[in-house]
Amino acid sequence: MARGVSVIAIDGPVAAGKTAVGRELARNLGFAYLDTGIMYRAITWLALHSGIPVEDETALGELARTNPVDVVGDEGNRVSVAGHSLGPELRDSSVDSNVSVVSKAPAVRKALVAQQRQTAAEGKIVMIGRDIGTVVLPDADLKVYLTASPENRARRRWQEMRDLGQSVELETVLSETLARDETDSNRDDSPLKPAKDAWKLNTDGLNIEQVVRKIVARAKDR
Ligand code: C5P
Repeated sequence: MARGVSVIAIDGPVAAGKTAVGRELARNLGFAYLDTGIMYRAITWLALHSGIPVEDETALGELARTNPVDVVGDEGNRVSVAGHSLGPELRDSSVDSNVSVVSKAPAVRKALVAQQRQTAAEGKIVMIGRDIGTVVLPDADLKVYLTASPENRARRRWQEMRDLGQSVELETVLSETLARDETDSNRDDSPLKPAKDAWKLNTDGLNIEQVVRKIVARAKDR
């Protein structure tokens, strides 16, 4: 492992493979792992649970500011927030369809980005999201922007949902995937886009191990 690489940022659209790749990469390198999407999902779940309208940016900001999201569990896929312990419910379709709207609120982003930077302060971390290389950790040692075709991404997301026992049409997942990308890419605050110095990697036709191997090789090069 290159001595210099301690902070790795992975960004990309819905279901480009960030979660599986980020988790495996972190395991491979012995680094910590943080999926920032789960934090936005946690605030979305809390807003829906508390009856806060997802258009009410002021109330959402207050909610995020006063309820730190603690990411827990070996896989980094559970959170503790406002006394709730949450896991699979963070992937419910109600969260899926509202999370991009909640994530547009600048005050929500401000609160979560502060927590994310604090988590990264000690280094040796793989952080995944939409704005990690551009906003959260602009000085990351390695920035990767993962992409894949919309059809492959929708199929992956569809399979994930089926594995969670949710029955949903592939066509519906494709249109929701595209809608979420559209909202994430066109918001004013921290839109989804590759950092200027990001390495763009298309994961079509590659499995997780192959993608991880490519990223590790790239890290060693630096
Ligand atoms: O990665 P995941 O699909 O779980 O992210 C859920 C949503 O959270 C994204 O569609 C996006 O709206 C938001 N998000 C974000 N910034 C991040 C991570 C996720 O706005 N760094």
